[in-house]
Amino acid sequence: VLMTCPPPDPYLVEQLEKRFTLYKFHSIPDKAHFLNSNKASIRAVVGNASAGADAQLIHQLPNLEIVSSFSVGLDKIDLAKCKERGIRVTNTPDVLTDDVADLAIGLMLAVLRRLCQSDRYVRSGQWKKGDFKLTTKVCVFFLLNIDEVITTLGYISQVNPDCSASLGTLGMPIGTVFILIQILVLVFVSVGIVVDSSFTIIQDWEIGCLGFTGKSVGIIGLGRIGLAIAKRAEAFRCPISYHTRTEKSDVKYKYYPSVVELAANCQILVVACALTEETRHIINREVINALGPKGVLINVGRGPHVDEPELVSALVEGRLGGAGLDVFQDEPNVPEELFGLENVVLLPHVGSGTMETRKEMADLVIGNLEAHFLNRPLLTPVL
Ligand code: NDP
Repeated sequence: VLMTCPPPDPYLVEQLEKRFTLYKFHSIPDKAHFLNSNKASIRAVVGNASAGADAQLIHQLPNLEIVSSFSVGLDKIDLAKCKERGIRVTNTPDVLTDDVADLAIGLMLAVLRRLCQSDRYVRSGQWKKGDFKLTTKVCVFFLLNIDEVITTLGYISQVNPDCSASLGTLGMPIGTVFILIQILVLVFVSVGIVVDSSFTIIQDWEIGCLGFTGKSVGIIGLGRIGLAIAKRAEAFRCPISYHTRTEKSDVKYKYYPSVVELAANCQILVVACALTEETRHIINREVINALGPKGVLINVGRGPHVDEPELVSALVEGRLGGAGLDVFQDEPNVPEELFGLENVVLLPHVGSGTMETRKEMADLVIGNLEAHFLNRPLLTPVL
């Protein structure tokens, strides 16, 4: 068995090693040399969402019989080539549906309610310092505007003798007032009320926080995962609409034959379809603009569903309200422009990443391989 992806789960590796001779392709330095020496003995490939079996690899493995993927998505497997060669293909449907749908809802809540930012606020100790927010702002005002304050006070004392007089009746000449203000500022700063930009950010997210219940949710792909997301969002009283290639007769949600129309008519747009040549960049500039500055994009499908540079510029320019992303175009490389944006939540492709589901996925991968080699029906066949 050739595992083409980095080992996705220790249990899977342990179980494969118990039953088969396992080659971990990812950690083999000279892959060409390895394939030359071992190609005849490789009868199965195990891959996942990051690496599967492309045409080139399939071509190099003359005795390949089965590709068993530790994923439901099949976009890393050349299905046409497998079909042509009579190679069986299996994946891991259903067992991961709930986790991915849960995560999609989690992303919606995290983006709208700014959960990650709030967590960072507490961990950084800013919550405690926040008690001094007003005082610090006064200090910052005086520090930044001390010239204006001096000029204004000087001006007032010239044109308004009453004011000057009242300061005078307090027994405080204007010069003393300036010095007192400066001493006050220095005292505040020196006792550790650190002036930093987080105060402005706190204000921003307090303003930017939005509710989830009742927001309209548009879903691209109403398959196992899309439908599970819809059911969950319904419980939050969200009106649901969707786009697929053909309208479903068995659901009551509103159907849009075009993605742009769907985007223009929802507040949260979720990508949950399969990645194919047709759905690559299904989220493009036109769709993003239709979703608009108050819209939120959630991607739990695959990175290439989204034209990533377009998404980044829309978020940076404020043409899109926010995004919750579990997947990226070139994982694990995430556009750094997104790191500073507080209306964005970034996850390292963990849609199915729970202990329970990863074990069920591993059992399916192993069960399919065993079934194949024992000439039994495959558990979850694709081809
Ligand atoms: P399903 O096969 O059940 O659903 C796929 C959906 O995609 C169908 O509703 C299909 O509808 C739709 N679809 C296919 N082609 C198009 C198209 N051209 N335009 C619009 N819709 C289309 O798959 P799952 O729900 O189980 O999984 C969906 C995807 O989620 C996977 O392919 C995978 O990429 C991703 N995923 C991500 C995970 C993560 O960790 N983030 C984990 C697991 C899956 P129709 O055929 O009617 O057009």
